[in-house]
Amino acid sequence: MSDIIHLLPDSVANQIAAGEVIQRPASVIKELVENSIDAGATYIQVVIKDAGRTLIQIIDNGKGMSETDARMAFERHATSKIKSADDLFSLHTMGFRGEALASICAIAQVELRTRREEDELGTFIEMAGSKVEQQKPISCSKGTIFSVKNLFFNIPARRKFLKSNATELNHILTEFNRIAIIYPDIAFSLTHNDEEIYQLPESTLKQRIINILGKGLSNHLLNIYTETSLLTISGFVGKPESARKQMHNQYFFVNGRYMRHPYFHKAVMKAFDNMLAPETSPNYFICFNIDPANIDVNIHPTKTEIKFENEQAIWSILLSAVKESLGKFSVVPDIDFDTDGSMDIPILNSATKIHAPQVDFNPDYNPFKQEYASPSTGGNYNKREQFDWEKLYEGFENEKTPEPIQAEITLDSHISDAADTKHEETASLHQPGVEYFQFKGKYILTSVKSGLMFIDQHRAHMRILFEQYLQFITQRKGLSQQILFPELIDLSAEDSLIMEELKEDLAFVGFDIDKFGKNTYRVNGVPANMDGMSCLPVLEEMISAQKESTLSGKNIIQERIALTVSKAAAIPYGKVLSAQEISNMVDSLFSCKNHNYAPDGKPIINILSEEEIEHRL
Ligand code: ADP
Ligand code: MG
Repeated sequence: MSDIIHLLPDSVANQIAAGEVIQRPASVIKELVENSIDAGATYIQVVIKDAGRTLIQIIDNGKGMSETDARMAFERHATSKIKSADDLFSLHTMGFRGEALASICAIAQVELRTRREEDELGTFIEMAGSKVEQQKPISCSKGTIFSVKNLFFNIPARRKFLKSNATELNHILTEFNRIAIIYPDIAFSLTHNDEEIYQLPESTLKQRIINILGKGLSNHLLNIYTETSLLTISGFVGKPESARKQMHNQYFFVNGRYMRHPYFHKAVMKAFDNMLAPETSPNYFICFNIDPANIDVNIHPTKTEIKFENEQAIWSILLSAVKESLGKFSVVPDIDFDTDGSMDIPILNSATKIHAPQVDFNPDYNPFKQEYASPSTGGNYNKREQFDWEKLYEGFENEKTPEPIQAEITLDSHISDAADTKHEETASLHQPGVEYFQFKGKYILTSVKSGLMFIDQHRAHMRILFEQYLQFITQRKGLSQQILFPELIDLSAEDSLIMEELKEDLAFVGFDIDKFGKNTYRVNGVPANMDGMSCLPVLEEMISAQKESTLSGKNIIQERIALTVSKAAAIPYGKVLSAQEISNMVDSLFSCKNHNYAPDGKPIINILSEEEIEHRL
């Protein structure tokens, strides 16, 4: 038998290598923009069409390439950035592997136009599937233009793997932000389908963060700076009150490169100990400057983890740096003159009447009279009885429930499947005209045939509103409550793309929102049940959930909207309800499609059986 091993042709080898380096349009943008930075560009334009499927164009004013270099650049392991293995330990460039261009031209049609300052004519090269199609001198301005067309044109399987345009665009923005934030001294622009998403002038780091992530952050950034012999840490952390449930704005950079570092993340979280609302996580933009000899540069091209030699020492330095800046903030009020806009000092208008704050109290209140006893002290129960009651609802509270929904929606349809049997059992329980009793401003109790029924008032109301909102959305009609002082919401470019996706369905639950500037929206009306509440956190939560979700589809988006709004608008615990309100609520609950579970999967109803009551007495 003849020998069977042979070398793969370059074009095939490059295609295989491309599988590692280029997963999606976002990877092309990352590689090409990094090359432009390495070429010393001060202005980098990114132009994309169809989320990068049909065109990705990067235009820079960097140093350009000679005719020979332009041709060489597409060879595998061709780089101008290192010469020997030793250079790996003193690396100051983003690239060094010489793989990116070889990979990109293996899986797309690429055109390169480039000229160095000293050359009169530039070079044009056209490549497709690793082959040179055309090369000629051209006249062009100094710098380099890469046009990458029809990504994965020769690998249909990879093309099929691409997600929706919205998802791919999101990946692009994520990669773009990771680079643009840490290079504020380079001007950037990003255009998608002829629409400008970013126009970022050269600026300070703080201004760049605000330009990318929205003005909402401008009064929330605290400076951090520590210089040690090991490294310098600089950047910003968000004030504790700007922490959010989702972890979006958390950036570590090392020597100008974005990195993920779960261990250092813990140091930041520790510095925020006891300062954050439950389940929230702070914003941070932290830059490490360190001798490249102390980090492992031989990282995988697409991995964002980086290994440090002295991780523990850096952990402690980082912890104290963040603590120090949070400490300064809590002692000294933050007067920040470094923002782009003016400070928000309300102007006193002499025509406005100033009213003394009014205290709302009930002059008839008599703490010894039973009907006014506060719900938090046990309603109408005396101390001894209260002890037993506390125990009765323990089981209900501790019932194992799924995590509250933040990132991923629990599909309501799944809940109803699981709840079907229970649904039938409890459907017969509701008898109109029965007496109800509110306990601790939290539960509605009533006697049923099999025992004592508890209804969680917040979850019940959430279920009622959820079904109502969903109906509004599907029937394309809803009620909006106009607000007297419209709220303005500044979003990042990334978030405003999501807002555009959500806007139509939001209108049906009652949000009257219009575009008020580039990434600014004005909320003129809110769902009727949200009257008097700030809509910003609700909209933010919806956008974050949408961003993090791996599920897509119109009904998932609609359910998510209905869920987030119903969660916010449902009556809170502690709200004392009148007999009429209770009775209306129970009636509405039992006419819901699923009255056993709240839309986030938590149980609404539980019954303490007669035997159990007997057993306890
Ligand atoms: P690497 O960046 O790892 O060196 P690439 O394949 O990304 O490998 O690029 C190969 C070479 O092409 C680079 O080393 C650089 O010399 C040259 N090059 C790429 N992009 C540009 C650009 N925008 N301007 C000038 N030179 C570039
Ligand atoms: Mg490169």
